Amino acid sequence: MKKIRYFIVSTIVLCMIFASTIVTYAADPYLSFGSKTGNVNVKKYADKYNDTWVSVIDNGISAWNNSSANVSISKSSSSKNSIEAARYDDTWYGLTSQTYNSSTGYTTKFTIKVNARTISADATNFNNFAKSTVTHEFGHVFWLCDNPNTSKSSIMKYSRNRNGMTAPQTFDVDNVNAKYD
Ligand SMILES: [Zn+2]
Repeated sequence: MKKIRYFIVSTIVLCMIFASTIVTYAADPYLSFGSKTGNVNVKKYADKYNDTWVSVIDNGISAWNNSSANVSISKSSSSKNSIEAARYDDTWYGLTSQTYNSSTGYTTKFTIKVNARTISADATNFNNFAKSTVTHEFGHVFWLCDNPNTSKSSIMKYSRNRNGMTAPQTFDVDNVNAKYD
């Protein structure tokens, strides 16, 4: 009898460990890290870039702020987070680096880079393509992973039409809101 009880207790403990493992590690459509809240700020950039890039970044931010996602992106001169647009000698269109607490997964700082070189080379509609990139990169700040395994439309998909899709899609908004409800 004692042996059976021991077996039941140890099985429950094992299940609990397994459950916490699922919560801790990344699972599509999420990264294992992201902003604790939907309210994030980014360092002001208006004096750093020309009007074209300022409006492209503004528009990417508005795409989230005007969506039904429970998020708000604001600009602050004292923010640790930044957006940088430059002609990087890399193949990516955008890149988001996040520093995060390894136990909570909460991001403490992020930097978004947007590649003017590759975007200019590949865009048919420059403004849409660049905005699509900025919107996508902010998706990472809100935990969304690259290229989610879904048949639904997503701003995080590599196969999306960057010349046309510039806003987070219903799938994206739903996943973000599951984090910030
Ligand atoms: Zn990405």
